[in-house]
Amino acid sequence: MSNAKPNKTYSGFDVRWYKQLVDVSPFGVVITDAKGNCLHVNRRWQEIVGMSDKRVLGKSWLQAIHDDDNEPVTQRWQEAVRQQQSFFAEYRLCKPQEQFIWVACDANPVFTPGGKLEGYVGSVTDISDVKRRLIELEKSVEGIQTVISQMPVILFAFDKKGRLCAWNSEAERVSGYSAAEMINSPNALAILCPDANYRYQMLDALKERGSEFQDWEWQLTAKDGTVKTIALSNITKIHPMKNWASWGVGVDMTERRRTEYNLRERVKEITCLYKLSQISNRPNLDISVFLQEVVGLIPPSWQFPDKTCARIVYESEAFATDPFKTSVARLSSDLRVRGRIVGLIEVYYMGGKAEAGSDPFLPEERLLIDEMALQVSRTIGHVLSRQDLALMEELSARAQELEQFSHVISHDLRTPLTAIGGYAEFLHKQINQNNIVQAKSCAQQITDISERMEKRLEEILKLAKLGKIVRPAEAVNLNDIIRETLVMLAPRIEKKDIKVSLSDNLPFVIGDQTRLCEVVENLLDNAIKYIGDKPNRLEIGCRTERNIPVFYIKDNGIGIDQKHFDSIFDLFWRINKNAEGDGTGLAIVKRIIEAHGGRIWVESDGLGKGCCFCFTLGRILDR
Ligand code: ADP
Repeated sequence: MSNAKPNKTYSGFDVRWYKQLVDVSPFGVVITDAKGNCLHVNRRWQEIVGMSDKRVLGKSWLQAIHDDDNEPVTQRWQEAVRQQQSFFAEYRLCKPQEQFIWVACDANPVFTPGGKLEGYVGSVTDISDVKRRLIELEKSVEGIQTVISQMPVILFAFDKKGRLCAWNSEAERVSGYSAAEMINSPNALAILCPDANYRYQMLDALKERGSEFQDWEWQLTAKDGTVKTIALSNITKIHPMKNWASWGVGVDMTERRRTEYNLRERVKEITCLYKLSQISNRPNLDISVFLQEVVGLIPPSWQFPDKTCARIVYESEAFATDPFKTSVARLSSDLRVRGRIVGLIEVYYMGGKAEAGSDPFLPEERLLIDEMALQVSRTIGHVLSRQDLALMEELSARAQELEQFSHVISHDLRTPLTAIGGYAEFLHKQINQNNIVQAKSCAQQITDISERMEKRLEEILKLAKLGKIVRPAEAVNLNDIIRETLVMLAPRIEKKDIKVSLSDNLPFVIGDQTRLCEVVENLLDNAIKYIGDKPNRLEIGCRTERNIPVFYIKDNGIGIDQKHFDSIFDLFWRINKNAEGDGTGLAIVKRIIEAHGGRIWVESDGLGKGCCFCFTLGRILDR
């Protein structure tokens, strides 16, 4: 209990009453005089501070203040008393047997009705718990700040004035600008985005996105001039922070984007080589078609497809992309086939120098063009080898044919020649004997045999010439050819009372119209020639075998024994030597079909069962 003597009355309360009231208060209460000397403290005050009221009177209470706080608190108290102003302070008090406690002291001046300072009434609250927690919190905030400043994520914040107020060490590392340079700088954005156009675009985009967005890619210009890609997220709305009007985090994506870009380029290059190998492996490759396709693979495989054009020159023939334009920015690689330079692949960059940087071509593109040239050269080599092989096969077939010819010619011409020789000898005799009639008959025989020989030689020559069909190029309508031939053969068809059925769905083919007419004429002529007894039938059509159209002419004639299936296609070969015909028709037909890349064969169930001549052609027109 305080010993201060009550000597005043306020608003009808005796000071004793007031003292009692103060003593039951849960707060520590202190009353001082106008000079700040302590007059009275309540019970709670004594408990909080751990001092008896006697020890605190006057200025003695100031001695209980912790050494570190004593001077500033004393000064502030004296200053408040001098200025007759209220006083507030948080400070440490040393309690006996305890280290110290934190208190909050709040004191207000009390004036007489005349306005004279009478003293102070103050309260003291033990805030040790709050203070301890606050200190712990500060420590953990400090810890978090350390983590934030050290984490490999850019942290930035703008204050209400739009100035940077947070710029962590990752932001410093990526940008090259220190926090000291950036924080509070009115030019921070202009420094980081020196291109005004881009800066305005960026600000517009940011405005549009508001205070919550994720991974918006921003191009930051670092201090060393390099442009970096930052994936920016604004999290102001999710985590509002005091004094940070707008804040967020960013991740430096530059390396990742570069890797992704490089990866995309490599995929393009690999795709190019893959497509090239696919084209190279196509059967019956035509070099011109191949080179035109290959040149088309180049622009999409280069890093600037829209500004890249290419040309392949092979044996002075050029295959170029559309558009094509030469320029100083050029890559090239030679085509070498069988040890000889036969051409080259060229790639041109059609854009300006500034757009592409110092070199518009990647080092990998230099390797790619060399690899392409190598593959193209190899493929041309293979095609040439195949052509050589085909030529060799053709030559050996010709040689065989020639041999066959010479056999046939020597065999077939020997008989008439022997006969001519015999008749000539006989003629000689008849002339010597002056037997004119016999001589004339001999001469006539010689003439007849010579004419037959001439005819036969003509056929041989005709067959030899057939090999010259190498480039059949017209679109031929087989339906028309067959119809026209049937009209030509109509008298014979009618005479033999043959019922003809023709399917009109025969596909168009690419070939030599005149030669194909010959094929149809020969096959129909044979079918009519070797037709059997009534009722006679002739069927002309097209069936599909393994996706290939097979044309056929089927009769119900005398048929062919299986053992003759191959030999009927030999020159001058006939099954029945007494029958009409000279055995050249099918040999000519076979030659024409093969010159068109096709095949001919005969199907028959045997003698008397009719036969079916079937053939394919190399080039069918899709309609
Ligand atoms: P030819 O002028 O003798 O008909 P081809 O070369 O056209 O000569 O035919 C060779 C042989 O094939 C014929 O002599 C004949 O024996 C046989 N032949 C051709 N076509 C038919 C057919 N449609 N039916 C039966 N035999 C045929």
